[in-house]
Amino acid sequence: MKEKHNLIVNEIVNQFRTLTKQTKRNSEKMLFELINSNSVLELKELLIAIDSVFDECPNCFYFLVNGYCESCMNEKRNSKKICVVSTILDAKNIIDKDVFDGVFHVIKGEIDINKNLGASELKIGELFDRIKDSDKVEVIVALNATFKGEITSNYLIQELLARHIKVSRLARGIPFGGMVNYVDKETIKNALKNRDKF
Ligand SMILES: [Zn+2]
Repeated sequence: MKEKHNLIVNEIVNQFRTLTKQTKRNSEKMLFELINSNSVLELKELLIAIDSVFDECPNCFYFLVNGYCESCMNEKRNSKKICVVSTILDAKNIIDKDVFDGVFHVIKGEIDINKNLGASELKIGELFDRIKDSDKVEVIVALNATFKGEITSNYLIQELLARHIKVSRLARGIPFGGMVNYVDKETIKNALKNRDKF
C-alpha cells in the first residue's frame, strides 16, 4: 500500500512540476498546502476563471485579458517599435514600469543547445512574418543577459540584419546573468534609452 501511495503522490507532484516549472520541493509544498487548507475546490474554480479570462495574443504572444492585448491594442503604443522578449513576464515587467512606448513580441523561450531547442521551436518565424511587409520598423532585442539569452540575441540580430530590418539591443547596463524580469526601473529605462544600434 505504501508503494502505491508513494507512486500516486509522486505522479501528482511531477505533474505539478511540469505545469508550474517549480522545483520538486516547491511542488510538494504547494500540493500539501492545498490539501492541508482544504482549498483544492477553490483552486479548481480559480483555474476555471483564469481559463475564461486569459488567452494568448495570436499576434505578439503576450496575454489577452477578455480579448484585449495591452501590447497590440493600446493605440498609444508605437507599432513601429517592437521589443522582443523571451517571456510574457519580461514584457509585463517593462509595461508595468512604463519605460517603453512601443509594442512587444514574446518569442516564448530561448535557444537552448543542451535541450535541442532551436529557433524553429520559438515564436521567431512569427516575428519575421509580422514585420515582413512593414515599413520603417525597429526591433529592439531585450533578452536576458545569460548564455542562452546571448545566443538567441545574436541569432535574432543576424537574421534581422539579413532582412534589412533596423535592429538594436538593450545596452550592456544589465550585468551578465541578469534577467529582464528582475531588472529595476532605472536600469531597464537606461538600457532601452542607450540601446546599441546595429
Ligand atoms: Zn498582442
